Amino acid sequence: MSAPTVTSVTVASPAARAGLAVGDELLTLNGHEPRDVIDFQRLSDASDLSVLVRRAGAPLGRLVRVDKAAGEPLGVEVSSAVFDRIRTCDNHCAFCFIYQLPKGMRRSLYLKDDDYRLSFLYGNFTTLTRFTELDAERILTERLGPLFVSIHATDPELRARMLRNPKGATSLRWLQVLLDGGIEVHGQIVVCPGVNDGAALEDTLAGILDRYPGLASVGAVPLGVSRYSDEHEMRPHTQDEARRVLDTIDEWQRLFRRALGHRMVFAADEYYLLAQRDLPRAGHYEGFPQHENGIGMARAFVDSFARPAAGGPGGVRHGFFSSVDAAPADGYRAPRVEVAPAGRDTRPVTVLTGTYGARVLGPLLASHPRDDVELRAVPNDFFGGNIGVAGLLTGEDVARALAEVPDASRCLVPDACLNEGRFLDGLTLADLPRQVEVVPSEGGSLRVALDGTSFRPGCPA
Ligand code: SF4
Repeated sequence: MSAPTVTSVTVASPAARAGLAVGDELLTLNGHEPRDVIDFQRLSDASDLSVLVRRAGAPLGRLVRVDKAAGEPLGVEVSSAVFDRIRTCDNHCAFCFIYQLPKGMRRSLYLKDDDYRLSFLYGNFTTLTRFTELDAERILTERLGPLFVSIHATDPELRARMLRNPKGATSLRWLQVLLDGGIEVHGQIVVCPGVNDGAALEDTLAGILDRYPGLASVGAVPLGVSRYSDEHEMRPHTQDEARRVLDTIDEWQRLFRRALGHRMVFAADEYYLLAQRDLPRAGHYEGFPQHENGIGMARAFVDSFARPAAGGPGGVRHGFFSSVDAAPADGYRAPRVEVAPAGRDTRPVTVLTGTYGARVLGPLLASHPRDDVELRAVPNDFFGGNIGVAGLLTGEDVARALAEVPDASRCLVPDACLNEGRFLDGLTLADLPRQVEVVPSEGGSLRVALDGTSFRPGCPA
């Protein structure tokens, strides 16, 4: 167990008034050791805290009294989200993207977590194979939701085979417990062609209707295969297979609506792009419950490009940290780089994005009044395979594409390919061969950028 370590102190906050400083370890709050930032948040919500603080280099802690009102933020950020050990995953899924990463990336990217706390905090999916009675008790008592659960298949034998873990056959019993306890849970099915598509997908959707009708939503996402995969059974969908998945989901949406009054299951945007079918209208997504998982993101982008002032679900982030600032999320779904409008710029524009994003942007830019906007679909040579989403673009690929852009152009890249200012391969904006503008990955911001407003990282609004 490590103690939360202060990484920043807000000016004039209760923590600042009590003399807390960067580097301080907060060993206990009112006598309790926080296990994670969920505990930390709950404990620090109290009025008049007594904090056992160990200053850097000091062998022992000393008690510090913090005067504050109940519910008033303490005013510190701490170094990590979990102070005991992150629960790692005991599955060995053939479709796992972590096994498809090349060697030598930063360590945090290889962390296979299966920890309900990271599901609550960041929207990570958990299979519940390491879930316990105590976890269920805590979630129900502290009302820790929404949570995000990997389903993949409801047939016990198939699920255990997909997770390569016998516990996969039984761990969805915990999903039942969470739903019975009134916790909001969203599910996900990674559809692997030849494994859990076709009749198996029908069976899974029937299983959801039968056993887990209380789920808030289920996203069906296509298998991503990088060139580093050595799983021969794993392959991308063909166009026909993508169409069949969409047909199955259409049919089941009708059934779910009739039985439950909502569509329940939604196909990832990639399916529509691969199948070359029109994106559904915004109303189809029933509030975009899985926008951040690439479900409805393309529709939301198109609509907010057409009507920037109308806003939209762009930028919606799942999890507790969508509303509360606390620990940084290194290795998880970290906050994207902050950008803000910074002035007028009327140079020609080159928009760089992933190959899937380019299919969405192509028609939008073609119908835009400016005739000096160029779209560059950046192939993902780093990962190869069928990886085409902007969120997995690396600095190396962006740098290669930038080399071909005329010097006089402004270059725009989506913020989805950066996590806390870093590309997945560890490069930063400063490592690119020329300056680029990072634009929030939603249509309205791109429209504003094309209308001449430039964006700069970290600029005050
Ligand atoms: S459960 Fe998730 S992290 Fe674990 S092996 Fe499967 S895909 Fe990878």
